Amino acid sequence: MKKEGRIIVNTGDGKGKTTAALGTAWRALGHGWRVCVIQFIKGKGEYGERLFGSSVDNLEWHVCGKGFVFNKEDVTKDREVAHAGYELAKEKIMSDVFDLVILDEITYLTLYGFLEVNQIIDLLEAKPERLSVILTGRGADKALIEIADTVTTMEVVKHALTSGIKAQKGIEF
Ligand code: ATP
Ligand code: MG
Repeated sequence: MKKEGRIIVNTGDGKGKTTAALGTAWRALGHGWRVCVIQFIKGKGEYGERLFGSSVDNLEWHVCGKGFVFNKEDVTKDREVAHAGYELAKEKIMSDVFDLVILDEITYLTLYGFLEVNQIIDLLEAKPERLSVILTGRGADKALIEIADTVTTMEVVKHALTSGIKAQKGIEF
């Protein structure tokens, strides 16, 4: 079966979900593809990938988060930002301008109850044929895994952060 656009899910607890998606962006850009990255949850921190990405031709970068929401008492604003991010994702996906769209950390929107998984599935089902979409984040929903073409679970064997080594610029952010 010939199918142009792919749905790719990078999930699991190990390191490499976002960076593997961005590696694919690099590859796609090398072929002159147009790429759009939408980062959910993460705020406008000094992430190296965003600092670099904002100066790359054919790459659009959007931040639709306010930082991780664990332990927050009031998530009203986070929910609003998540919904705005979902609407932006819809607009970018349906614009038919891009060849690759990356929805980074989008799995948390359903894990936190900001969005129903069906809303993501509906979006993927309506996407232009040629468009590939990569979705990242821990705990990907079963329904998402089912409709995806390629799913990878990153498995933690070891992570420096858990043995007390601080997040390192250039490696973790
Ligand atoms: P990366 O952005 O490095 O590809 P990731 O997207 O797989 O990582 P996230 O769950 O988005 O991982 O993690 C956000 C941050 O936590 C990243 O800086 C990442 O390096 C770090 N991290 C990833 N996996 C682990 C882990 N198992 N234990 C502790 N920290 C982790
Ligand atoms: Mg990530």
